[in-house]
Amino acid sequence: MRRPFVCGNWKMNLLRESAVALASTLARAFPAPMPGAEVAVCPPFPYLTAVAEAIRGSAVALGAQDVSPERPGAFTGEVACEMLLDCGCTWVIIGHSERRHLLGETDATINRKLKTAVERGLRPIFCIGELLSERNAGLTEQVLDRQLGGGLAGMSKADVAALVIAYEPVWAIGTGVTATNEQAESAHVAVRGWLERQYDREIAENMRILYGGSVKPENAAGLIGMPNVDGALVGGASLKAEQFVPIVQAAL
Ligand code: PEP
Repeated sequence: MRRPFVCGNWKMNLLRESAVALASTLARAFPAPMPGAEVAVCPPFPYLTAVAEAIRGSAVALGAQDVSPERPGAFTGEVACEMLLDCGCTWVIIGHSERRHLLGETDATINRKLKTAVERGLRPIFCIGELLSERNAGLTEQVLDRQLGGGLAGMSKADVAALVIAYEPVWAIGTGVTATNEQAESAHVAVRGWLERQYDREIAENMRILYGGSVKPENAAGLIGMPNVDGALVGGASLKAEQFVPIVQAAL
């Protein structure tokens, strides 16, 4: 049985006061671990420790939005896994489409980040997803296969068991256009099929595959209710407790 997981990606939003206020509201909404669902938030780096304090003891876990593939050292501006763990992070988003497409992050870099994160004990949320032009050209599965193959190259079964995958069609991220339940389900089935071919049935069956792309309270239950959709990675709607809480409740 895969436990649903809802994760908020705050991106480059909020300041300390609003970040702590949102985190405190979520901690009050989900005060104790919930067997029915897992919940996490990924604030910007400067607010990790303040948010960690605000959610301490609650069901809400902490994640970061990116990480360096390097060990601590001379890498100006970068943040190491050790630092994220020290701030209280369990999770880290790796390969988000904004980093792939706006900042030029490659499958090879994503692969290094995934390997480093797993090796150091962080749990990656590995993001994949096709552009609208790729979907329209009928290339969705090919793109997902390429991103999965590149991102997970050289990773063992045990490594891969530490992560969750987020299917985020780029055309749905921040656009207000959500994939239909059927589009999400069919992409998730393809991802699970790839995992079974490359690893085995156990990995494929146990992998949590989140959907991301304009998830809102109105569409969350339908999406998360699909057999192969195991939760959501939520951007815009994670910035308001009155939207994020019902999405977690839909997963519950
Ligand atoms: C995201 O950034 O991962 C995301 C899914 O954003 P939004 O929910 O705003 O589409």
